[in-house]
Amino acid sequence: MSTLKAVRGTRDLLPPETELWNRVESTARAVFARYDFGEIRTPVFEDTQLFARGVGEETDIVSKEMYTWEDRARAQSEKAQSLTLRPENTAGVVRAYIEHKLGETGLIQKLYYIGPQFRRERPQKGRYRQFWQIGAEVIGPPSAGSESPLRDAEVLEMLATLLNELGITGWKLEINSVGSATDRPRYLAALRKALAPVKHKMSEDNQRRAETNPLRVLDSKDPQDQEIIEALPCIADYLDEDSKTHFAAVLAALDACGVPYHVNPRLVRGLDYYTRTAFEFIHGGLGAQNALLGGGRYDGLSEAIGGPKAPGIGFAIGLDRLILTLQAQEQTVLETIYINTPSDAYIAPLGEGQNAAALALAHELRNSGLRIEVGDGSFRLKKSFEIANKLARKIVLLGEDELRSGILTVKDFATGGQTKIPRAELAAALKSQP
Ligand code: AMP
Repeated sequence: MSTLKAVRGTRDLLPPETELWNRVESTARAVFARYDFGEIRTPVFEDTQLFARGVGEETDIVSKEMYTWEDRARAQSEKAQSLTLRPENTAGVVRAYIEHKLGETGLIQKLYYIGPQFRRERPQKGRYRQFWQIGAEVIGPPSAGSESPLRDAEVLEMLATLLNELGITGWKLEINSVGSATDRPRYLAALRKALAPVKHKMSEDNQRRAETNPLRVLDSKDPQDQEIIEALPCIADYLDEDSKTHFAAVLAALDACGVPYHVNPRLVRGLDYYTRTAFEFIHGGLGAQNALLGGGRYDGLSEAIGGPKAPGIGFAIGLDRLILTLQAQEQTVLETIYINTPSDAYIAPLGEGQNAAALALAHELRNSGLRIEVGDGSFRLKKSFEIANKLARKIVLLGEDELRSGILTVKDFATGGQTKIPRAELAAALKSQP
């Protein structure tokens, strides 16, 4: 029989690597809490229409990469429905914002999420079909100040703080304004005009984009098309006064709080809903897939999916890529912290008759906060010592005599020293020694 493996583009995360994932996630939760964000958990699948309308029919994500299926009705009360595994989470959060009428509070909602997303992309290093994102959204009615450039700057400053707190060095913030809904048609017209005489020289993908979604041409990494792309009109020249003022205010606030950035006039993002501020944090250590995270403002998204006016700004961090970056830059630190950390003690029952008592002792010690491994009474003593030496700093022997007398024999592998410790003092003794 052929062996079954994880599906292409998906992977298992195992210890000790998952320790690092947990550390990153808990740091993110702690930083978000300081900025008063609360967690939202939305379903991993949604009505396909949500992404078609929210992310945009003509985007690569919706046109090529979604995992979509027809969900048959199982009862008369149910309808057949097209469902999709979420390729991103902003549309889901905004759907929840509308569904739960969060706008009626009159306040800005600050929500974050951590979870898997699904896109049928060509797998490579840093690009998977199931990948993880840590994201956040700041959204609310305009009267609550949700359009303010200060919200954009605050989100960017929070991201810089998070990356720094995680110990990521060498990140670069690239930022641009992609204009408002009124700037966009003028720019698209200019782009189409400039592309018309040259598009036949471009890659097949870009020829298609030039027709269906010309903004996406700017996103293309295709080396043969870069010369043409360089010469295309720049969105900065098509921004109206409001968009220009908004962008200038975002940059001024970033300057004021010391967040370094680089304005990249070619930066557009792969999702249709972005307006005004668009950004990416990139990292040189990642190779071709160099975007650690991306985000931007989406002032029209709520209305696009049938909700009230609710401008917002958000981002999604590629957690897989964040981990790759950390692993590459602090290999030795990680090895000492996560790979070689032995537990506090290994309890070795000396016969099967002591197995249950060993578990009871482990229970007691674990309750006092110690990390404990328990062996098995069927092992010979030599085997117990060998295993204990790999897993723990000390071995605690538990035989009939020890159980009767309440005095346990503890051997320290680092010093080779052996001591007798009364059971009541064991937890304190295991804690006090290095
Ligand atoms: P996006 O939702 O496309 O704006 O992506 C936000 C971030 O998610 C990117 O900057 C990446 O770090 C990450 N990301 C997007 N697609 C993938 C993927 N297929 N595999 C791993 N990470 C991804």
